[in-house]
Amino acid sequence: MVAALHVVDCALCGLPTAHPFRGEGGTLFCCPACLEVDRLLHAGEREARAAPSADLQASAPPANHATAVLSLGGLWCSSCAWLIGETLRRAPGVHSADVSFGQREGRITFDPERTDPRRLQRQVKRLGYRAWLPGETPSDEEESFSNRLLIAGIFAMHDMIISLMIYVREFFGWATPESAWLVTIFYLMMAMASVPILVLLGIPVLRAGLASLLRGQPNTHTLITLGTFAAVALSVRNLVLGIDRVYFDTASMLLFLVAVGRWLEMRAHKTGSDALERLWKQVPTEATWITPEGERRVPADELSAGARVRVRPGERFPVDGLVATGEGDVDESLLTGEPDPVLRRPRDRVLAGTVSLDGAFEIITTAVGAETVTGQIGRLLHQALWQRAPVERLADRLSAWMVPGAVALAAGTFTFWTVRAGPEVGLLNALSVLLIACPCALGLATPLTLWLGLTRSAEGGVILRSTAALERLASVRQVFFDKTGTLTRLPFRLQAVFSGELDEEAFLARVAAVEASSEHPLAQAVVAEAESRDLALPSASDFRAWPGYGVSGRLEDSRIWVGNQRLMDTQGLKLGADLAARAATWKRQGRCVVYAGWEDRVTGLLVLGEETRPEAVEVVDALQAMGLQVAVLTGDDKMAGERWHERLGVPVYAEQRPEDKMARLREAAGPVAMVGDGINDGPALAAATVGVAVSHGTDVARAAADVILLGDEIRAVPWLAALARTTMRRVRQNLAWAFFYNLIGLGLAVTGHLQPVLAAAAMIASSLIVTGNALRLRQFPAAGARVEGERPRSEDSADTPDAISSVPVAG
Ligand code: ADP
Ligand code: MG
Repeated sequence: MVAALHVVDCALCGLPTAHPFRGEGGTLFCCPACLEVDRLLHAGEREARAAPSADLQASAPPANHATAVLSLGGLWCSSCAWLIGETLRRAPGVHSADVSFGQREGRITFDPERTDPRRLQRQVKRLGYRAWLPGETPSDEEESFSNRLLIAGIFAMHDMIISLMIYVREFFGWATPESAWLVTIFYLMMAMASVPILVLLGIPVLRAGLASLLRGQPNTHTLITLGTFAAVALSVRNLVLGIDRVYFDTASMLLFLVAVGRWLEMRAHKTGSDALERLWKQVPTEATWITPEGERRVPADELSAGARVRVRPGERFPVDGLVATGEGDVDESLLTGEPDPVLRRPRDRVLAGTVSLDGAFEIITTAVGAETVTGQIGRLLHQALWQRAPVERLADRLSAWMVPGAVALAAGTFTFWTVRAGPEVGLLNALSVLLIACPCALGLATPLTLWLGLTRSAEGGVILRSTAALERLASVRQVFFDKTGTLTRLPFRLQAVFSGELDEEAFLARVAAVEASSEHPLAQAVVAEAESRDLALPSASDFRAWPGYGVSGRLEDSRIWVGNQRLMDTQGLKLGADLAARAATWKRQGRCVVYAGWEDRVTGLLVLGEETRPEAVEVVDALQAMGLQVAVLTGDDKMAGERWHERLGVPVYAEQRPEDKMARLREAAGPVAMVGDGINDGPALAAATVGVAVSHGTDVARAAADVILLGDEIRAVPWLAALARTTMRRVRQNLAWAFFYNLIGLGLAVTGHLQPVLAAAAMIASSLIVTGNALRLRQFPAAGARVEGERPRSEDSADTPDAISSVPVAG
């Protein structure tokens, strides 16, 4: 007799299945991926329940409130919307703020007595976005600016040609009294051609200049306003009084050149943010959702976790998820910077924005939009871009001094030359002083260079939380590595299980039940082995991680301890002679031994193969070649420490608990970098001058580090160190250049050797030079390429034939 085929619907994605997988509490799923996601989701819920909800604390809707709608510009991903929303919600007087990335719009309810729409608009603008109130016309700032620049440029040209004709007339001796009327006409033409320039370019500068003056913070705009309007006023006076000298050409050229500088700056900043925009643009906005009724195209960020999505060969993944069916190569270079594709199979993790090269996948969504790894990266990078590094503050401080200094110097120059050669010469020379003292290059050089360094590192799969991290990294003298999970090759593989009391599988199941709650790489290997043997894991309660030692948890009524020998010692679990002898043998063979026990004794051992990452030696050499000291800190025992010392040839400090690691980092002379596991090395990463986390592609935003490596190679460490040094070198070069240029220019201007137009041209040239120098960072070799001091690749590839290409990023 044939049993009727029993079809059930998956509890997560809703698809019918005849061969369900049974999850906790008997829930049925269509595939292991759905089961896994459901488990993850419930873990999330538990966390959410444990944390006090912010929403609950929100006050009741206010009696007295108003609503404002802001149209937004300059958002490049949904995390920008998140940031704006967060900022607004924290602003005084704001009750709620809903910001939609799709509609580029924010709806804000607020208390009209405490704030108003204009102030909210300013708050958004201060974050670097554009915002318009209803009735204001959104326009592309850059486009309208370049149009104005173009029109003004034509008129400026006109002025220059006329003034050239006047010079020609004088130069060839045609300046006869009979033709003097011609000059007056030329002057009038110049005056007329200057009017559009003054309106198009002058008024915005005037407005900005006055505004900053009123705030008591004179800036470059103030200088330019003073300069141009002094030149125009002088010219008008001369024209009216019939004095044979006008400076309309100077004023218009000045405004034009300054606007060119401003435009350059806009372009340069755009270059910085383009890299981010490019990242986000790679994530498809639509996804193919598989429902019981068939397939549908839907906006990707409307999917919820658990939705089943189809991704065909050549397509990009629209969401983060786990592979349910399908197998194939995936190009993850967008996030990791590593050019080699990685193989993805059922239950592996795939990330939004990466490309399925040849596999036809069905995946189960784990995260969409801003919650995807790509979204988290966008958010981190964006925050990093708006944080100022100390060296930027130095530049700001210098600028803040230079403007009043320039005004004082200009006043001195004016007085001196007025006494010596009359007010006209005085004014012109003072104008040159003002122009040349403009700290444009200084203000531009530093942030731009840091931005480019930051985006360049993102292209190489390295995320920096702030530009300050680059600055600190460049100063680092010593690099410490964590061992397990950082220098060891992942994943670990369980090679043997031994228990004197239980049979092997029952013992493994008990240990795995506790380890299932740990993110440690050793724990993952234990759980993977239990799963591959299809063991039913009992559920453990009371889980606790003992960083540097191991974990514990309660099963039925005994407490199970899993970890290293020191954990067993501290808990007073006795180690029998047989187990001790076996452990010693395995350790001598270079394996990693994990102890487990309950009640009063160690009941068994787990043996894991420990291999060095293929690139570890190369990375250590490269860092040493850069003059950095390298050392290893490990929670493992002395014997393992010895072994690693032999392998790498650097000092290895063994039996380091997290607090020992921190102490050692604090004691180290000078700035130190610590490279470690994203999550379990949190304290050490935070204690170092710069913490570098190996993320294994998991929760990027949670890693307690300044720097997060997305790729699965630590080769990015020397690359990043070199990039940081190059970036800071460029910053210093630019600062030095801007400083010397200002000094020399000032000398010439004060002594009356620099025409105002030349001063303006020099200012632009200087900005161009620093911008160009910063842009050279874009040519910094890609992450996978050779870095100074590394050895040729052939040496290390020979003995590691099946290198890293098949290691999943999955966490
Ligand atoms: P490292 O400093 O080398 O990265 P850790 O501090 O992560 O090492 O761990 C130190 C030691 O503690 C490990 O070698 C291991 O013996 C033990 N340990 C830590 N966590 C676990 C765990 N979840 N399961 C088993 N052993 C663990
Ligand atoms: Mg570790």
